[in-house]
Amino acid sequence: MSQGSTQNPFQLAQEQLDRAAGIMKLDPGIHAVLREPSRELHVSIPVRMDDGSVRVFKGFRVQYNDARGPCKGGIRFHPEETIDTVRALAAWMTWKTAVVNIPLGGGKGGVICNPKEMSPGELERLSRGYIDQVGRILGPEKDIPAPDVYTNPQIMAWMADEYAKLRGHYVPGVITGKPIEIGGSEGRGDATARGAYYTIREACKKLKLDLKQATFAVQGFGNAGQHIATILSEAGARLVAVSDSKGGVLNRDGLDAAALIAHKRQTGTVADFPGADKISNEELLVLDVDIMCPSALENQFTHENADQVKAKIVAELANGPTTLEADEIFHRKGVFVIPDFLCNAGGVTVSYFEVVQNLYNFYWDLQKVHQMLDRKMTDAFWAVDQAAEKYRVDPRMAAYVVALDRVANAIRLRGIV
Ligand code: NAD
Repeated sequence: MSQGSTQNPFQLAQEQLDRAAGIMKLDPGIHAVLREPSRELHVSIPVRMDDGSVRVFKGFRVQYNDARGPCKGGIRFHPEETIDTVRALAAWMTWKTAVVNIPLGGGKGGVICNPKEMSPGELERLSRGYIDQVGRILGPEKDIPAPDVYTNPQIMAWMADEYAKLRGHYVPGVITGKPIEIGGSEGRGDATARGAYYTIREACKKLKLDLKQATFAVQGFGNAGQHIATILSEAGARLVAVSDSKGGVLNRDGLDAAALIAHKRQTGTVADFPGADKISNEELLVLDVDIMCPSALENQFTHENADQVKAKIVAELANGPTTLEADEIFHRKGVFVIPDFLCNAGGVTVSYFEVVQNLYNFYWDLQKVHQMLDRKMTDAFWAVDQAAEKYRVDPRMAAYVVALDRVANAIRLRGIV
């Protein structure tokens, strides 16, 4: 999922696919199938606003590929949403579910709206309206949405309820990221970071790096960043720097993750955390640490700073933090990258566990969720590592090869082409 610059995201996704297809000599027919979304629905959603007026919002659901199982992917509410972004994200979900080997395909949804300017009532009516329109192509056996940018468990709960009205009974497995009380899974909150941690632990084994002696830095201190800071600290690694959009802090002797989270909750930022030196985001990215965890934005490592990066491992919790040029520099320098769609696949993996629990109507405890997640992420890490050795490519290309091989096999076995 490494990003170019301002390129159309779907073209970028197609180019990445083309490159991987060339390396693995993918069958041209299967390659052609994988270059296009299998199905997409464009809808108009009328919403009665609080002032009595009616607004019509545009929405999409893209089912990119379901050769390996029902489509899976979040729903974004964003003012700058475009169909090409949704297509690209749906393609990336197809590779992500395949690389962690969960029996699902890839999809994504979006609505062009600005949730920050909408009341809770308007948001609820929009969420229900979206399901009224796309519900006909959703279902645990067809396509299973989840939260994404500016959507959350409450929105998932409204959507699940609207879907229940369409079907005449509650079908919790139609959507994931629900509150626990109505069928959500234990362990969903920190699943992305925990999954990333398992891949980091395995990368340390590969590089013969003792995690307990390792230092790390985290860029971005939201859901992914706060949890990875906590989990890696619990595993014995030393957190030396963190940042958010307002700036960062550094303490070579170690920072306390829990205290940082409390400080951010109180003040809105980590930038003035006491007992630490200030550091800019640019400085943080090239700090001398063992493990660097970009957990904020895309395009953070570019041809301008990649050469100065000193970390041994770059664990991409964020989507697309490394440009294609930076990727090549990292590969040349021997910086070990855990590519985004492997590193941050813990979220979708626990979403899959949520559907499984919904379908069985039997719920697991946290320990079981962690154990199953560990197995999935660890297996995925070593499958990618093997492909990297076999094809002599960087881990990102290797992750593509593993994923495409699995999707291609499903297409071949089912006789789709
Ligand atoms: P979030 O909104 O909770 O947190 C983002 C953090 O990044 C905030 O602390 C913000 O202050 C910080 N930030 C913004 N601009 C910054 C800048 N210029 N420099 C440093 N920090 C900056 O988001 P999140 O859910 O933690 O997601 C972060 C990344 O992880 C995204 O790329 C997202 O796509 C990816 N991701 C998240 C999940 C998940 O389950 N949360 C799953 C997969 C991928």
